[in-house]
Amino acid sequence: MVHVGIGYDVHPLVEGRKLVLGGVEIPHSRGLLGHSDADVLAHAITDAVLGAIGEVDIGHLFPNTDATWKDAPSRLFLEEAARRVRARGGRIVNIDASLAAERPKIFPHLGPMKQNIASALGLDPSKVGVKATTNERLGFIGREEGIAAMAVAAVDLPE
Ligand code: MG
Repeated sequence: MVHVGIGYDVHPLVEGRKLVLGGVEIPHSRGLLGHSDADVLAHAITDAVLGAIGEVDIGHLFPNTDATWKDAPSRLFLEEAARRVRARGGRIVNIDASLAAERPKIFPHLGPMKQNIASALGLDPSKVGVKATTNERLGFIGREEGIAAMAVAAVDLPE
């Protein structure tokens, strides 16, 4: 039986931080603020996978009060979500995600992002969709105050 999950995340853009999206460090004047590497795309996908198997969200699994996850690469969160799917005898069917960022240009980095996400989840890259859009200069994303990501996951679980 295929179960679907949804994930959504936002992090603020600030000076003095690296910008990491889908495990790719992207040259930019600012980066995302968070307890881990603040990889908003990886976080949304992690939550989508966790949601599909009915588990608690990323913020409860990896609390920002736990020093273990300080500046942690978010790949660890994706790997743990995939591990939990396998522990349930399940299999991730596919992932799809969208990034909403006014700047920088995301498109040139989509290939490496897909590769990273696929390898963290143990999937073929053809099973991972990542798109990017601007927010047409509207709202906090349009003012470049933050970047948002949303994702869905389909997970095949035994009955
Ligand atoms: Mg987050």
